[in-house]
Amino acid sequence: MAETLNPFEIVQKQIKVACDKLGLEDSAYEVLKEPEKVLAVSIPVKMDDGTIKTFIGYRSQHSTVLGPAKGGVRFHPDVTMDEVKALSAWMTFKCAVVGIPYGGGKGGVRCNPKELSKGELERLSRGYFRAISPIIGPEKDIPAPDVYTNAQVMAWFMDEFSQLKGYNTPGVVTGKPIILGGSLGRNEATARGVMFTIREAARKISLDLKKATVAIQGYGNAGSVAARLLSELGCKIVAVNDSQGGAYNPEGLDPIAVLEYKKKNKTVKGFPGSKDITGEELLELEVDILVPAALENVITSRNAANIKAKIVGEAANGPTTPEADDILYKKGILVIPDILCNAGGVTVSYFEWVQNLMNFYWTEEEVNSRLEHIMVKAFNEVYSIHKEYGVNMREAAYMSAIRRIAEALKVRGRI
Ligand code: GLU
Repeated sequence: MAETLNPFEIVQKQIKVACDKLGLEDSAYEVLKEPEKVLAVSIPVKMDDGTIKTFIGYRSQHSTVLGPAKGGVRFHPDVTMDEVKALSAWMTFKCAVVGIPYGGGKGGVRCNPKELSKGELERLSRGYFRAISPIIGPEKDIPAPDVYTNAQVMAWFMDEFSQLKGYNTPGVVTGKPIILGGSLGRNEATARGVMFTIREAARKISLDLKKATVAIQGYGNAGSVAARLLSELGCKIVAVNDSQGGAYNPEGLDPIAVLEYKKKNKTVKGFPGSKDITGEELLELEVDILVPAALENVITSRNAANIKAKIVGEAANGPTTPEADDILYKKGILVIPDILCNAGGVTVSYFEWVQNLMNFYWTEEEVNSRLEHIMVKAFNEVYSIHKEYGVNMREAAYMSAIRRIAEALKVRGRI
């Protein structure tokens, strides 16, 4: 049978396995297998040449059982409704695994932001947010950045919503610029969480990070900052890539210099002193730590047997298929699953929202130390379930999350 690559079918399978392993009745799975609400919108945008082009966008709210829906908005040519639904479900479990009071949501617009002018991108962003605004709000659903969206897009979202309401609503989105109520540390938070969980995983398998080598697939906000933070711990970053190509240097790459090079050249490919490397080669390198930090379905049944890393830290959402998961587990590779590994982003989003609601702002040290506390605790909870039940780390993470959600569903009287 062909491997399932539909992310929504994958997440349904993951939910089912965790519900079964927890011994929950079918009712929990029945409630969690579909998103509560999915909105599809069309967004006509006036392009710079005067023509009108219509884009399609989605917002999926998978669950609001533990709190308002929460999750990013992605602008990407491959966005589909099933992908957004899956990503919204992953957000539910991500928030639950770190124990923050949110459900899960996700949005996406099918577009190629690299081909849009700044004005077109602004009109598209505002149009999308206007279209989804009836189901959005600080108490209902709080969007944030995701693939190819950033603080500027969040500023347009927040401004559009504030204009609709007639008053300032900073709590409606997170990942905003600091001047508009963004949190210190939010920009680096996803990668900082990735770093904390990799550090904890390395302790468990007695891997000395000062001697460890790392390959990073994807050099966006998560990948580039993770490279820097891991190199600050003493790791050697030997390979990085992006959608245009890769750079490999067994002597190590300077993550900051690579980022500067990427800003100028729009890719890491061709970084001075490095050799070109394909995405497939990068994943199969003989390294200690592999960090997929781009999109879904990059570790599949086709290449999982060739992965040589001791730790896989999933900075991306959904990079590993269930079939690949089994192969990695049998090979004894410690996978830090996405819903745990990259939960630092949404955790600091939570801090941002709390600061917005209180109108009282924290120092960067306070943000980072609270983040560390939450990530280390969540990692250890998941690791204990992994050991206690003899399940892989992903199943353990789902079990930890679903246990909390099922308890809330029960006491609410929903199941
Ligand atoms: N897009 C990020 C994620 O997938 C962050 C979501 C948020 O901060 O709400 O976790």
